[in-house]
Amino acid sequence: MRPKELIIKAAKAVGALSLVRDSRWRHERLMILCYHGVAVDDEHEWSPTLYISQDQLRRRLNALRQGGYNVLSLNEGTRRLYDGTLPPRSVALTFDDGAVDFERRALPLLREFDMPATVYLTTYYCQKRLPVINTMTRYVLWKGRKSGVDIAPLLGTSGPLRNEDAGAQFKAFEAFVAHTRALEMDADDKDALLGRVAERVGVDYAAIKSRELLYIMAPESVRNLPRDLIDVQLHTHRHRTPRDRYLFQRDVRDNIAVIRELCGADTTLEQFCYPSGDYDGDFFPWLRECGVQYSTTCLPGLAHRGADPMLLPRLVDTMNISDLTFEAWLTGFAELLPRRREFRIDTDRLAPTQGPMPGARNI
Ligand SMILES: [Zn+2]
Repeated sequence: MRPKELIIKAAKAVGALSLVRDSRWRHERLMILCYHGVAVDDEHEWSPTLYISQDQLRRRLNALRQGGYNVLSLNEGTRRLYDGTLPPRSVALTFDDGAVDFERRALPLLREFDMPATVYLTTYYCQKRLPVINTMTRYVLWKGRKSGVDIAPLLGTSGPLRNEDAGAQFKAFEAFVAHTRALEMDADDKDALLGRVAERVGVDYAAIKSRELLYIMAPESVRNLPRDLIDVQLHTHRHRTPRDRYLFQRDVRDNIAVIRELCGADTTLEQFCYPSGDYDGDFFPWLRECGVQYSTTCLPGLAHRGADPMLLPRLVDTMNISDLTFEAWLTGFAELLPRRREFRIDTDRLAPTQGPMPGARNI
């Protein structure tokens, strides 16, 4: 057990977790939880920070129920946070990207527990029925790790280039990205190249694709989400954050247009999530001009009334967070423990590499 877990265990034994959970301090705070993928197959073994198992999600929802937490929709949670009318033990659930695994693995549990959630939908791959290429490349390289073959010839580099361990897979992934950029490949070209890489490392790419692993939900699936339970919100069209007002707003407006087409022209879209947790103070006025009121980051913590609504913290739940630590976060106790100021996130399926450092730039 890690030192921090020992502290939490001792604190729980003397009732400190319950004390914090039932305090006025916690009452005035909203815990926003962030999920990316819920594994359909073995994705959580490949990336335990990007994917959790369905069993873990069930345990989390059970902890919310057993702990008497009030799971609010994000809209209600953020409104009541700033109105000062939060109920005790407030929590909001968010799922980034809007993947097919959300529909298959998370939605049935949310229905069963009758808990609302927000899906931050990125819309390019929703319309384009291809897997998210960057993530799929990393997944294929991991799945084919035992092949021992040299894939350099496929990627236009001098070999050998193998994918037997995490370091080698990362190198191969970088070579893949560099090669597709050099040849200015579009999404279809990249997908075809990845098919050839998969074949070379002995991975049945067609089978993975037929199961739509690492795909974003299809337009029809988004249309059919239960409106009383699931709210679809903004995450940019192409999952990117250019440092240019026109380009940035174009991505947000494209995202708005597709979501309104799928969910109704009168859909209120005021919630935004920074792709890959990448935020910049310049974005705040640009987002407000697009109608956004609240934006969430991947910086862990509970949101309080004094927080900038464009910088709301969220706890990214992963396979590496134990049930005990998760409980400590829900109660608010974990927020009171000393933490490293900066940490690396590698929790975004569309991030080109392992994700950026979420530093406060231009703020
Ligand atoms: Zn994302």
